[in-house]
Amino acid sequence: MLEIRGLDVHYGGVHALRGLSLGVAQGEIVALLGNNGAGKTTTLSAVSGLVRPSGGAILFEGADITREHPHRITARGLVHVPEGRRVFSTLTVHENLQLGGYLVRDSAEIRRRIERVYELLPHLAQRRGQQGGTLSGGEQQMLAVGRALVTGPRLLLLDEPSMGLAPLVVASVMELVADINAGGTSVLLVEQNAAAALRIADRGYVIENGECVLEGPAAGLREDPRVVQAYLGGV
Ligand code: ATP
Repeated sequence: MLEIRGLDVHYGGVHALRGLSLGVAQGEIVALLGNNGAGKTTTLSAVSGLVRPSGGAILFEGADITREHPHRITARGLVHVPEGRRVFSTLTVHENLQLGGYLVRDSAEIRRRIERVYELLPHLAQRRGQQGGTLSGGEQQMLAVGRALVTGPRLLLLDEPSMGLAPLVVASVMELVADINAGGTSVLLVEQNAAAALRIADRGYVIENGECVLEGPAAGLREDPRVVQAYLGGV
């Protein structure tokens, strides 16, 4: 479904991605692991068209999207939820979700999608009139993901959804991602919380200094001594 081939990204003199290759098949959750600065966010930004690669190619469902505009990429069903719970704090939960439908012309379809988000996240439904900024961190994260769902993703690009959340809340966010995937949406999940990500992922890649250094089924990565040592706290 998504194929990244030999991708290079430079920020001025910084060579952030160095010939990175990875893939996501239809129906998969793929975890992208790595330390701070490894190039995870840059990978998602390149896929969604927010940064321009200096080399390599990105293919989505067979089409070359390497230099396509971000809004065209989103319209193909590649929806990026950036790091940091960017909800509109003075808009209500419902208004935030409505914004997710900006590319959808059919208002009945937007209403149906919002209702599906409320079914998936009943506690958001109870807060539909509440301002986004008054929600807890975990609820804001769920709202950001819910808004992306209204856009109608075929592949969801999630950047660090567990960031700054308490362990129990991380578990609910991961459960939400697994539920979304069970509904047919593929997921590319960037996480520093490798344990949480590998619990729900089918496969994973480990990135270091802009290169993929390890890949494989999530179950194998969970047991791999290099992953255990570097990303699972050495236990
Ligand atoms: P984090 O978890 O901290 O976001 P990451 O794995 O997502 O880390 P990136 O944010 O993709 O890593 O950064 C990869 C490299 O590119 C780092 O060396 C970073 O300092 C550099 N970088 C990222 N964004 C920019 C930018 N806008 N300008 C210059 N350098 C950047």
